[in-house]
Amino acid sequence: MEIDWENLGFGYIKTDFNIRCNYKNGSWGELEVHDTEYLNLHISATALHYGQESFEGLKAFKGKDGKTRIFRMHANALRMQDSSKGTMMAQVPVEVFEEAVLKVVKLNERFVPPYESGAALYIRPVLFGSGPQIGVKPSEEYMFIVFVTPVGPYFKGGFQTTPFVIMREFDRSAPLGMGKFKVGGNYAASLVAGQRAHELGYSNIFYLDAKEKKYIDECGAANFFGIKNNTYITPKSQSILPSITNSSLMILAQELGMKVETRHVPVEELATFAEAGACGTAAVISPIERIDDYDENISYIFAKDGKPGPVCDKLYHKLRAIQYGDEADTHGWVTIL
Ligand SMILES: *Cc1c(COP(=O)(O)O)cnc(C)c1O
Repeated sequence: MEIDWENLGFGYIKTDFNIRCNYKNGSWGELEVHDTEYLNLHISATALHYGQESFEGLKAFKGKDGKTRIFRMHANALRMQDSSKGTMMAQVPVEVFEEAVLKVVKLNERFVPPYESGAALYIRPVLFGSGPQIGVKPSEEYMFIVFVTPVGPYFKGGFQTTPFVIMREFDRSAPLGMGKFKVGGNYAASLVAGQRAHELGYSNIFYLDAKEKKYIDECGAANFFGIKNNTYITPKSQSILPSITNSSLMILAQELGMKVETRHVPVEELATFAEAGACGTAAVISPIERIDDYDENISYIFAKDGKPGPVCDKLYHKLRAIQYGDEADTHGWVTIL
């Protein structure tokens, strides 16, 4: 099969192998290599009925030197363990997680897009309760699967801004709920809002804190940051997912001589930012053109003519350069296959 690397989107493309590992009788088994995309699952698995599930998303990049680099898989392994605490699932040991990721990338290395394409191999680990329960209890059996699929560059026509919206009729998570864990249920909870935002011409919706509706939380799958006075400001909240991209950008911002603040960000403060962005693995940074407060009928404008601001631009290119191996990895973020 020939893949048109230049025109890849963010869809599922079949690759050769996936890796699986089962948890049973209190322990994890061996890693298994599978070539089918399907699995045999008990009809009463807790994942299906009670949402015992979490996932991760990370990427592998082909460098100019032909080497394949995986970005921050250790951080993803730890975050998946955290999601297990929130859902009472068995934790995947960090070594098992890392070994599975390395193995799946190696076995599917022909799907890692070439350097020039700007595309990457998306890695999707998923963990779920596979054992039968009908009462509401954690499963006694779990399945951990890692598969990969090549994905195109997020910005087809180059690094660009898009508009976002705030709508108070939707929350993605409760104040003391599951927002801080990477679980599928949060995504199901964001679909209606996401579709509404798309229909209105926005990239996505920014949620406010569900309790007071005063502070910016994040959007469906990306954290928020604002830039002003040489400072990188990102929300502190009980209900946002700790983005690994965001934590990387904070470190890079500091190294570029900026101040970094993690604190509540009141909606009105949006008016004071020179630049703003959404950040996550998919796009690294999705720079924000404007945020419309749909209920208050206010527009906060950060960019005109689709051009990202200088700080977003610098941070974006810096992080991408580390991922592709164009710049030295001084933080131990990259694992070379
Ligand atoms: C995955 C995710 C992010 C981004 O996290 P990264 O580790 O940077 O990819 C942000 N918000 C939510 C809700 C997410 O699920």
